[in-house]
This record gives sequence, C-alpha cells and structure tokens, in this order.
Amino acid sequence: MSNLPFTLPTCDQPATVRLEVFTNTAAGLPDSLDASVYTCEQHADPATDTIEGTNRTAHRVKMAPDVQRTCGHVYLFPTGQLADSGHPRWCDQNDCGRRREHRSGAVEVDTNRPEATIVEVVLAQALDDGAEPQVLISAADTTEAEPRTVQLRLSVSQGYVLSNRMRLLTEAARWERRNGGHW
Ligand SMILES: [Zn+2]
Ligand SMILES: [Zn+2]
Repeated sequence: MSNLPFTLPTCDQPATVRLEVFTNTAAGLPDSLDASVYTCEQHADPATDTIEGTNRTAHRVKMAPDVQRTCGHVYLFPTGQLADSGHPRWCDQNDCGRRREHRSGAVEVDTNRPEATIVEVVLAQALDDGAEPQVLISAADTTEAEPRTVQLRLSVSQGYVLSNRMRLLTEAARWERRNGGHW
C-alpha cells in the first residue's frame, strides 16, 4: 500500500532497486528528497517514468545489501513535502527538517508599553522518535550594550504550572498596587 499521491506500476517480487524521489522546483530541478521507492528490476523503469510524470525526479541508487523490501514499498521522509501530515497542528511547518524540530510561531509577551526585556514563547518538538513537545522561553535584555538572549526549555507540564504560579504572584502584586501598597 503506497501513500504516494500517484499509483506506481509494481508487483510483489523482492525489490532490487531503490529510487530516491525528489520533488522538483518550479524550474524543474530536483529539490527536496521526499521518498524512497523500492522496485524489482522489471519495474524500475516504468516506476521512474510514472514518478517523473508528476514533476518529480527519480534517482536510481543501489539498495543496501542488508535491506529486504518488496517491489512497491514506499518510505516517506518525515520532513519531506509528501509527509506534511507528520507535523503537529501547532507547527508553522517552516523548514522543520533543517532546524531538526517542529516549532510554533513565536508568541511575543507584549504589554503594550516599553519593556526592558523582550520575551517570546514558542512550542518546539525535536524530530527524534518519541520526543515530547517543549516550551521555549527566550528573553533578550535590551538595556545591555550587546543584548544577550537567554533561553529556557521547559516541559509542557512545567510551562503549565509556571503560568499558574505566575498568575498567582502577579495577581498578588496587582492587588498590593490597587490597595496602596508599595510597587
Ligand atoms: Zn516489480
Ligand atoms: Zn513541523
């Protein structure tokens, strides 16, 4: 069963050929490596023709000797253009393969007034198998001559507890201020 957006001519014989499938740029040049397709000798050429008929390029490479696949087996690279469903829903899908992690867009901690420290919060998840999402907090102190960015990586549970603790503390501080305390 192939999860490619096109049907390949294949059989169920042992594969002897691996085709690297690249999606082409608008100029027709191979761009992103999206899949490996395994075929028998007989289906290597027809499969190549099918792939190249979809604005993709197929590079025929030798199969590693210890790999056993049947003709028609498809492997989709999780970071390729054919595997978009591999992103979490919060991911901005912006070059996850290069940065080796999914990331949400940055959420700026914005108070509508000038602050000395610029703070951003991002959700991230490494592409490793079984990696958990993390909360990334980065803070840049703009009062320093060379602003340095400090980054914290928290588990999602820590991020959740932190937001509750901060709410309690900041509400206590606001209560003091409203009631004439020192601020
Ligand atoms: Zn075949
Ligand atoms: Zn992603």
